[in-house]
Amino acid sequence: MIYEDYYIFTPGPVKMSEEILAVGAQQTPYFRNSEFSNVTYACEKGLLEMVNAPEGSKVIFLTASGTAGMESVVMNLLNKEDNALVVNGGGFGGRFVKICETHDIPHSDFNVRNTNLSDIETLAPKEEYSTLIVNAHETSVGHLYDLRAMGTYAKKNEMLYIVDAISMLVTDPLDMQASNIDVVIASSQKGLALPPGLTMVILAPSALEKVQDVKSLYFNFKDYLSNGKRGQTPYTPAVTIMLQLETRLAQIQRRGGVAESIASAEEIASYFRENITKLPLKAYTPFMPNAMTTLTPTDGKSAMDIVNALEEGYKVMVCPNGGAERDIIFRVSHMGDMDKAYTDVLIDALHDYYKIARD
Ligand SMILES: *Cc1c(COP(=O)(O)O)cnc(C)c1O
Repeated sequence: MIYEDYYIFTPGPVKMSEEILAVGAQQTPYFRNSEFSNVTYACEKGLLEMVNAPEGSKVIFLTASGTAGMESVVMNLLNKEDNALVVNGGGFGGRFVKICETHDIPHSDFNVRNTNLSDIETLAPKEEYSTLIVNAHETSVGHLYDLRAMGTYAKKNEMLYIVDAISMLVTDPLDMQASNIDVVIASSQKGLALPPGLTMVILAPSALEKVQDVKSLYFNFKDYLSNGKRGQTPYTPAVTIMLQLETRLAQIQRRGGVAESIASAEEIASYFRENITKLPLKAYTPFMPNAMTTLTPTDGKSAMDIVNALEEGYKVMVCPNGGAERDIIFRVSHMGDMDKAYTDVLIDALHDYYKIARD
């Protein structure tokens, strides 16, 4: 049942390519040797290039899900002397607020709706902050923020700028240097289209300076940074996922670089949106990323019923929301190994479900 062939449009895990699956089918190798150090170096180099990280940036590889990346960044870079402005536009923003609470980091819960914060300067509370924290793509609702405008604001106010880019890397543009970003958090199972289990924290020199002693054995960045010099991690890394990451970064290069992957995601997302205009569905937000389309039924149907009908009747997996949004929205991911033919399966299923002809 769990391995049955579904068409996957969920925002993580996403559809993986045959090339990546083939790496996963092999014996996991031993890793405390120079061969594996070279894999780590290649992954680090590829990631730093992909986000246009400033000279001297470093990558920390954690064997954990993305939330560990979020939490460990707060633990290793912030303390009670800080005051963080946490953009909260949904479930993932709320998670950063909880993390700050958990670690007693002074912060403001900056509740945001219906804006991509291109005017953050006027919207932000007029307090002094040391840090700006945002989920570039708030995946719970499919909302993309204006990273560049926020970076300008952060720089002007001398704030450390932390961006969780987990659900927009490879599908939407991110440029650390152009947007003055100090920290990028990435994870394997979204745009990178790998299995879950590997999380990467990219630290610019401005963030490396702030790495402090921390009361944690496993999430101690200083330990990762000193081991990273020899291409190793303090503890067993997600060896196979790192091999898959190396392959994936090479695949992105072979396909023309990350700009080409972003253009392709944009094309697929537009194709999907243009081909469902006859259906009683509307976009939930005007600030959609290429990574995902979030839809609201306009005919009074429950979003959850649509999700269930697609799964049961068409073997198509889209993503429901929980809580109050359960009946109001569902989400369609365009991340991963997508093309128009694959996307057509969902477009056709939706038309068949509504008994509306596609053309
Ligand atoms: C998926 C996701 C995460 C990480 O969630 P995990 O379940 O811990 O991997 C973090 N931030 C955003 C924006 C995400 O979409």
